[in-house]
Amino acid sequence: MAQKASELNTIRQVHNWIDGKVVESATGRTTDVFDSATGKRCATVAMSSVDEVAQAVASAKRAFETWSVTPVLRRARVMFRLQELIERDKHELAALITEEHGKVLHDALGSVQRGLEVVEFACGIPHLIKGEFSPQVGTGVDTYSLRQPLGVCAGITPFNFPAMVPMWMFPLAIACGNTFVLKPSEKDPSCSLKWAELLKEAGLPDGVFNVVQGDHVAVNALLESPDVAAVSFVGSTPVAEHVYRTASEHGKRVQALGGAKNHLVVLPDADMAKTADALLGAAYGSAGERCMAISAVVTVGDAAEPLLKELLPRIAALRIGPGSDNNNDMGPLITAEHRDKVRSYIDLGEEEGATLLVDGRTHEITKSDGYFLGPTLFDNTTTDMRIYKEEVFGPFLTMTRVDTFDEAIQIINDHEFGNGTSIFTRDGDAAREFANSILVGMVGINVPIPVPLAFHSFGGWKRSLFGDTSVYGMEGVRFYSRLKTVTSRWPAGIRAGADFSMPTM
Ligand code: NAD
Repeated sequence: MAQKASELNTIRQVHNWIDGKVVESATGRTTDVFDSATGKRCATVAMSSVDEVAQAVASAKRAFETWSVTPVLRRARVMFRLQELIERDKHELAALITEEHGKVLHDALGSVQRGLEVVEFACGIPHLIKGEFSPQVGTGVDTYSLRQPLGVCAGITPFNFPAMVPMWMFPLAIACGNTFVLKPSEKDPSCSLKWAELLKEAGLPDGVFNVVQGDHVAVNALLESPDVAAVSFVGSTPVAEHVYRTASEHGKRVQALGGAKNHLVVLPDADMAKTADALLGAAYGSAGERCMAISAVVTVGDAAEPLLKELLPRIAALRIGPGSDNNNDMGPLITAEHRDKVRSYIDLGEEEGATLLVDGRTHEITKSDGYFLGPTLFDNTTTDMRIYKEEVFGPFLTMTRVDTFDEAIQIINDHEFGNGTSIFTRDGDAAREFANSILVGMVGINVPIPVPLAFHSFGGWKRSLFGDTSVYGMEGVRFYSRLKTVTSRWPAGIRAGADFSMPTM
């Protein structure tokens, strides 16, 4: 739809943040950002060049010299101030998320809160990063270990949580004494500059936090830069794999979180009303654009019919509309292209022979200008179908019926992804067995979206995570610091002469 000239004048220009200030990109290459509820352009974002990434990395490298030796309590105090500033501005942040991403305001606010909790965790950095000490490991010999920062850390983030996912990374990276370069998603980039402003207001020295806007050009420049020590990535699996390979080849520490297909298993003894409530929010909340969304329900034995009896009326009652209206349950998808991709999976499901119970293509909301799609539910999905195997990342739920609990476990364990999963049952023994034997990183028992809180850690298994550390919590502290162990002998020194055998103390 053509936009009026007056509207074009109000369009935000989203640039880089280098050395404590906004720096306009000189490339002239930009990408449009859309208000996904209206389809109107609301911003343009710069696509940075390799040189511009190098400027940001150079700024972070300079800042590391002083930030890395700044006393840990002073680093923590920046996090305390940041916490207050995010509380102050959380509604502004939520409105930015809703405008560019489309999710409903209450959901956007919840995502800011979940990120804020990582900032609160990072406030405890003096305790979290302190080392260990063993006196007298040998006569006159003491050993202590400490964790030191790595250098410049890069964060590359996806569109679906423009505030929360960067907050999984930069608070702990910075609190640990590193400096940081963020490359946010080009689809909803505006929160990244808000972080930069808030961190500056919180007292963070210039250069410790930088933002480069852009696409794969900026990402690859970060992955190949000799001055970047570590890379945290969250996004789709093909890109996660590329990031993991390339950054590892360039000698970096990497954690690369990828895509998902999260199963929810329903046993016949589950409370079906409560299960349907949980499933509804987990499948269609945020229009299914959550890496922990439930996209595959697996019913065991005769659980399917009672579940459908509860679920279908709830799906029919879903309120879909602009995210700015807090009465809605679900907003639009991120872009027209992504909406069309999700819609093409509905066509595919029909071709593959699954039973289409709810068709998102025919919902009234699809007649409006935004990138809306109604909820979709396929029954009788089998494990050889692409709609079951692939990540759709939309309001799209498949249902697979199996006869036994063991079959449910088997199909989940056979799946390519292993991000999150959940079981609904009243049987404690079955739930315990499920938690122990499932090959998935995050497990819910009568909890549909088991995202760990900030003092635990978030990460999937299999092709949902490349690298060996999850994000935030103690895993985050370990990722953003490296261990040094010192063995010392005072004050006598080594007087006995050289010793050529392995010391055994
Ligand atoms: P994406 O992989 O397309 O993009 C993620 C980031 O990588 C963006 O910053 C993007 O600019 C950059 N990028 C894209 N293509 C690239 C390329 N070819 N080379 C280098 N960089 C590239 O992901 P998205 O569409 O923004 O986000 C949705 C995906 O993220 C879903 O697959 C979802 O499951 C996943 N996700 C996973 C988690 C998790 O914790 N595992 C959390 C959130 C989202």
